[in-house]
Amino acid sequence: WHDRLLSGFKRTSDRLTGNLVGLSAARLDEETLDEIEEALIASDLGPEMAGRVRKRLAAGQYERNMEELGIRLVVAEEVEKTLAQVAKPLEIEAFPRPQVILVIGVNGSGKTTTIAKLAHLFQEQDYAVMVAAGDTFRAAAIGQLKTWAERIGVPIVAGPEGGDAAGIVYDAVKKATEIGTDVLIVDTAGRLQNKRELMDELAKIRRVLGRLNPEAPHDVVLVLDATTGQNALSQIEVFKEVAGVTGLVMTKLDGTARGGVLVNAAEKYGLPIHAIGVGEQVDDLRPFDANEVARIIA
Ligand code: GDP
Repeated sequence: WHDRLLSGFKRTSDRLTGNLVGLSAARLDEETLDEIEEALIASDLGPEMAGRVRKRLAAGQYERNMEELGIRLVVAEEVEKTLAQVAKPLEIEAFPRPQVILVIGVNGSGKTTTIAKLAHLFQEQDYAVMVAAGDTFRAAAIGQLKTWAERIGVPIVAGPEGGDAAGIVYDAVKKATEIGTDVLIVDTAGRLQNKRELMDELAKIRRVLGRLNPEAPHDVVLVLDATTGQNALSQIEVFKEVAGVTGLVMTKLDGTARGGVLVNAAEKYGLPIHAIGVGEQVDDLRPFDANEVARIIA
């Protein structure tokens, strides 16, 4: 999976390499600083990160005798600093049970797969896990979650297509409480094209949860597809507005991802990044390691 992670950040690190090659860290005039700043933005790292690196270079805070490596080290350090602040695994609290994790995101982002991966992860930590098929809008979503639940052996609460999502969630919490479930992971519809309806549906789910347990949902995890680049950023914006977001999982950080966007998101929103997806299998969810990712990028 390390190789897959490398490929997920390849576009970002290749652009960096291509743009920084031949630059001499010994002579950083304004024009060169502009070029470096542009290179960082073109690598999806975002304007804030680019600005910070530029400032540090302009202030001479780097090793000048190492050619472009001196510049890359500054990038790596700044990226790691930003990422270290957001790298936080999802934690299961001792109380109350079940801990309810609402999973949101647009269709195709990898939501269902991520739910299965998280369920598997918590199972391995000896927690009793349950999933709820709250994306009642798509029959395929219900079927897919059922298939995953069967494959990894977790109970699922599901209803018919077109059913009431909040009702499913209500049933799931009841059942989870009855059988002593530690973690309940809830799938939700990802219809961003109908923002009003989505917002109402999520609000209703929240109301139902809140009535059963004032602290629920404990986590609202937004799943983002890293191959969509800057699009992922606007999804954070919208979902923060319609649902509130407590943390992120970024998927598809293998293959042709634009991994740099993760840095941009971290810098801009500061939301915890709980884990990253590096493949389609249930154990392809990795903890998010700031140092590792920073070294891969720069
Ligand atoms: P949903 O519509 O958001 O529920 O998305 P799915 O979970 O159905 O995932 C959409 C597609 O992305 C499926 O083909 C998944 O196998 C694939 N997928 C999900 N996560 C990853 C990942 O981390 N890496 C790769 N390469 N594919 C993924």
